[in-house]
Amino acid sequence: MSKKLSEYEKKRNRGATPEPFGGKKGKGNRFVIQKHDASSLHYDFRLEVDGVLKSWAVPKGPSTDPRDKRLAMAVEDHPLDYIDFEGVIPKGNYGAGTVIVWDAGTYENLSTSDGEPISISEALESGHAIVSLHGQKLRGGYAITRVKFGTGKGEKWLLVKKRDPEADARRKPVSTQPESVLTGRTNEDLEES
Ligand code: MN
Repeated sequence: MSKKLSEYEKKRNRGATPEPFGGKKGKGNRFVIQKHDASSLHYDFRLEVDGVLKSWAVPKGPSTDPRDKRLAMAVEDHPLDYIDFEGVIPKGNYGAGTVIVWDAGTYENLSTSDGEPISISEALESGHAIVSLHGQKLRGGYAITRVKFGTGKGEKWLLVKKRDPEADARRKPVSTQPESVLTGRTNEDLEES
């Protein structure tokens, strides 16, 4: 059992949830945002970093308006195979509810320290990273910045759109584009199936 994923595995029962547990490690730079209609609706923002998905739960979802500071609660690392998971987590399981892939693509790490490029893992360790997203709904720079230390859901970050040509205060993709980029389905569609 990978140490990084031990928290993920501890919270879940392999026989009872359709969620994945594996993933081939690589040097990938993918990201995903999953819309998760659990006990409370949120958007899980995940970046592929050193063979796992670093993850945050964003209650209001990402904004394309640089004036919005979206709270992002750090959650446990997820396995790489989670990146295209859509489905229903049955009642009684951790995170019970529906999950769709709301946005997906690759990211570019633009993080620096004293003007020098640093790796995404160094940046996240330091509590401030800048990534440029190449998704279907989200594009351009985003800053993710730790504002309160803690473990698991006690660690707070802010996800903020950078001012660049992709910034758009009017777009509001969270409300206007609710569907999965993989299947076109909404969370409600999954509930009915
Ligand atoms: Mn979640």
